[in-house]
Amino acid sequence: MSDTDTCLAAVRAEIAKAVKASRRNPDDVALVAVTKQRSAAEIEPLLLAGLRDFGENRVNEAAEKWAPLRSRYPQVRLHMIGRLQSNKADDAVGLFDVIHSLDRRSLLDALVAAGEKAGRYPAVYVQVNIGAEEQKGGVAVDDLPAFLDAVRASPLPLTGLMAMPPHGKQPGPYFALLAELARRHGVDGLSMGMSGDYPVAVMLGATALRIGSALFDD
Ligand SMILES: *Cc1c(COP(=O)(O)O)cnc(C)c1O
Repeated sequence: MSDTDTCLAAVRAEIAKAVKASRRNPDDVALVAVTKQRSAAEIEPLLLAGLRDFGENRVNEAAEKWAPLRSRYPQVRLHMIGRLQSNKADDAVGLFDVIHSLDRRSLLDALVAAGEKAGRYPAVYVQVNIGAEEQKGGVAVDDLPAFLDAVRASPLPLTGLMAMPPHGKQPGPYFALLAELARRHGVDGLSMGMSGDYPVAVMLGATALRIGSALFDD
C-alpha cells in the first residue's frame, strides 16, 4: 500500500462514519479528489485505487497535467473548483465536466457561448459567498434567486450550490445555511466540505466533498 492508499482508506472510513450517523445513502456523497499542485506521479495511486472525480483550480495546469492521464483513464471527470476567468471559458469547457465556481453573469454568458461552440455543456454548481466576504468569489445570498433563474434559463445543467465557509469560523452553521438555500430554491446538489471539515459537511447534507490535503501524506 502506498501512503496515498492509507490516506484514502482513512478518508473513506470517515465519510462512511458520517454517512451512517446521518442515515444518508452512501451513493449520495461523492468524493472529488483535489489534485491542484500535485504531480501525475502523486495522482496515479488515486487513479489506481479507482477514483474518477478530480478537482483542479487552474485551467492551464489542469490541461497540461491531465492530457496524458486522461488518455489512460478516459472515464475521469474533471471538476473546476477555482475562480474562473471568462476569457478561459473555451478552454474550461473543453477540459472540465463540472464547474463548481459559477458565480457571475459574465461567466455564465461566456460558458454558454463556449458550450455552443463546443457542442458540450459542463454541469455547474453556483458558488455562494456564504460568509459575505469581500475577497471571496461567489454570488451574494440576496442575489442568488435571480442568478439561479438565469442559470436555469441557460443550457448549462444546474447541479447544485457550492460554498467555502469563512476561514477560522465554525463551518457547521455555514454548511447548514447553504443546505437551507438549496432547499428553498429547489436545488439538489451541495458541493461543500474540505479536508478540515468534511465529516460535518456530510452530516449537513453535502453531496460532493472536495478533499485535497487529507489524501496526501505530507
Ligand atoms: C484546495 C481546495 C480544496 C481542497 O482543500 P483541502 O483543504 O486540501 O482539502 C477544496 N475546495 C477548493 C475550492 C479548493 O481551492
